Amino acid sequence: MTRGMPAAYTSELAEALAADVLDRFLRYVRVDTQSARGREQSPSTPGQLDLSRMLVDELRAIGLQDAALDDNGYVTATMPATDGATHAVGLIAHVDVSPDAPGAGVEPIVHRSYDGSRIELPRGGTVLDPADMPVLAGKGGHDVVTSSGDTLLGADDKAGVAEIMAAVGYLAAHPELPRPTLKIGFTPDEEIGEGATLFDVGRFGAACAYTLDGSQPGEIQDETFSGAEVVVVFEGVDIHPGWAKGRLVNAARLAGRLLAELPADTLTPETTGDREGFIHPYALSGDAGRAEVRFIARDFDDALLAEHIALIRRTAERVAAEEPRSRVSVADRPQYPNMRRFVDTFPQVVDVAERAIRAEGIEPLREPIRGGTDGSILSQKGLPTPNLFTGGSEYHSVREWASVHDMASAAAVVVRLAGLWAEEPA
Ligand SMILES: [Zn+2]
Repeated sequence: MTRGMPAAYTSELAEALAADVLDRFLRYVRVDTQSARGREQSPSTPGQLDLSRMLVDELRAIGLQDAALDDNGYVTATMPATDGATHAVGLIAHVDVSPDAPGAGVEPIVHRSYDGSRIELPRGGTVLDPADMPVLAGKGGHDVVTSSGDTLLGADDKAGVAEIMAAVGYLAAHPELPRPTLKIGFTPDEEIGEGATLFDVGRFGAACAYTLDGSQPGEIQDETFSGAEVVVVFEGVDIHPGWAKGRLVNAARLAGRLLAELPADTLTPETTGDREGFIHPYALSGDAGRAEVRFIARDFDDALLAEHIALIRRTAERVAAEEPRSRVSVADRPQYPNMRRFVDTFPQVVDVAERAIRAEGIEPLREPIRGGTDGSILSQKGLPTPNLFTGGSEYHSVREWASVHDMASAAAVVVRLAGLWAEEPA
């Protein structure tokens, strides 16, 4: 790859932050913090604690004396307010990376002044082709970071971690800059849906917070899916096939029939977008005696989410009713709520973020996120927590990449957020 012309940073502040953000990012992504589903303790994997301990040390080196790691693997620290600032504002990112792509042995590569051409990574035959990646195609001149091709990069969410650390370090080095009380929180196990479950909102002590766990510059997400998991179990009658005539009831066939009878050309992740919800069977297991289908259901509207769950239940019960010797059970549990109704109770939190993003010369993009964040559950727990951009893309894959320029912009937005919150009336 030949070098293009270097792109400008969004501000002098971003430019001043860029080297530290990148330095931290390259250090953090090398730590294997992949989380694992079906955890029996928090965090689910010990590698997350390696990064969390490193962050505690670095926060103390910055001067945040109360930096600590709790028994569940949560890092917290406080940066005191400047005189006259009354608010306490949280800054949150997650240390784990997705279990859905290899996460150990990450060797990041920095492509300085990216020239807009195909990026062929040295391992795994991985190619980042701007023809298929319109967001990457727009980053000509940026410094772009990728993995070596056989692992994910870990920008989700170590970009967010690095941005918060760099912003806090910058504020510590510039005591004249106004800031509210800043509460820092680094969480484990976000990627397995547990990042906020053991988060002690009361002890954290912030009135509102921001996760840095989004993607493109300007994003501010205050609306997420509401999510639920639905597990359907069919029990058949398992008889040796040689003597099965008139007696065998095959649970695997019932599971197949359930999937065949659910909508396929609508209400699926592959056929919906924007504000449409879906039903997604993500795991299927079993045999003739017993078969299990696990679904997630998603919608922005809680009433529609309840309908999706009811559709799975109704269909499963009808399939089972056609074979009276079978049994079926359907269990659903909420996973996370749409944060919108909680964030709406504290409009200041989005308003200040939009002003901080504009102050960085970026147009705010307020779009609902077709997923959940730690902020969904934190908002429900009483800590309104919208999500801000980090500058990473193609998460959970070996093609994951991040723009240093955009990461620097995100860190600059955090510094500006602090300044604006310091001036906010109580
Ligand atoms: Zn994330």
